[in-house]
Amino acid sequence: MKACVLERPQKYSIQDIPMPKVGADEVLVRILVSGICVNDVRDYKGSKWSYPRIGGHEYSAVIEKIGEDVPKESFKIGDKVIAYIIDDCGICYDCKHNHENICESFTKSKAYYNPNGYSGFYGFSEYAVVKARNLYVYPKATPDEEAAFSEPLACVLNSIQRSHIKMGDDVVVIGGGVMGLLHVLCAKLQGARVILSEVDAKRREFGLKLGADEVIDPLSSDPIQQVRDLTGGRGADVVENTTAIPSVAIQAIEMCAKNGIVNMFSSIHPNEPILVDAGRLHSQEITITGTQNGTVETFARAIDCISKRIIDVRPLIEKIFDYQDIEEAIEYASRSDTYKVMLRFSK
Ligand SMILES: [Zn+2]
Ligand SMILES: [Zn+2]
Repeated sequence: MKACVLERPQKYSIQDIPMPKVGADEVLVRILVSGICVNDVRDYKGSKWSYPRIGGHEYSAVIEKIGEDVPKESFKIGDKVIAYIIDDCGICYDCKHNHENICESFTKSKAYYNPNGYSGFYGFSEYAVVKARNLYVYPKATPDEEAAFSEPLACVLNSIQRSHIKMGDDVVVIGGGVMGLLHVLCAKLQGARVILSEVDAKRREFGLKLGADEVIDPLSSDPIQQVRDLTGGRGADVVENTTAIPSVAIQAIEMCAKNGIVNMFSSIHPNEPILVDAGRLHSQEITITGTQNGTVETFARAIDCISKRIIDVRPLIEKIFDYQDIEEAIEYASRSDTYKVMLRFSK
């Protein structure tokens, strides 16, 4: 089968590699469309994970072969599916307490380190093998590229659930990229007034088109004051930080209202510690939290939302490239003026 192999940073090649073997509890899927994630762009630029690497964890696929121990009634050849990408062990303390999305074994899996082979999730190849328990079936009518949005949306739904947005809340979303805009769409459906903070004028305009009630340019003047001006001096009930910048994380906390919640959705790069006013957290009962990955449940909910078009991801799809043009696609995805870029592997 063909695979887009990232041999080392900045160097992709299309290689013929052996078909993966299907274990008794596994399913072979043929990749349809694979979204390019910020993490794939980071791997391309050089990450701490092992190379060669076959990235791609935001894919839709079709079932080609089913392992012998998989319950016959669960899946059929030809089903359209997506995969839960976290290789949770199911045994550790976190898994047993419904926190499988932060399972210890996740970053130790071959998806990250595989010194004797390819690391990665195999979404950037023609076929992948997935444990049956990690598959979700999509209605066939859902277009492949929309189904491929399940993983990013699942991450955002985890963030939204943890933020406890209530009707009438003021929600600030920091960052108007794909993940920020998914937050805008979801927060609107939770009944919030949504303020999008974004440095780029075109992205602010697009945010308004997608339903943001207000937009602010954090570079034009103090963003904390701008949020206070829009919220009667209180600040925002919920702040969703989708940017990786430590100084913005500080601002996110400062623009939060009394009793508010701040969620660090993005990982922080470089992860420099920030100073927090603990006295204010105490006296104003502020919650600072973070979210990582999607959970088994939010993946299921992402499929509900996309297949019923409760969340319409179509405006966020920038361009779909043929997989052979992966380098061009990755370069395109890393531009600050593009939204979700995807690769087509088969129909
Ligand atoms: Zn992703
Ligand atoms: Zn675990």
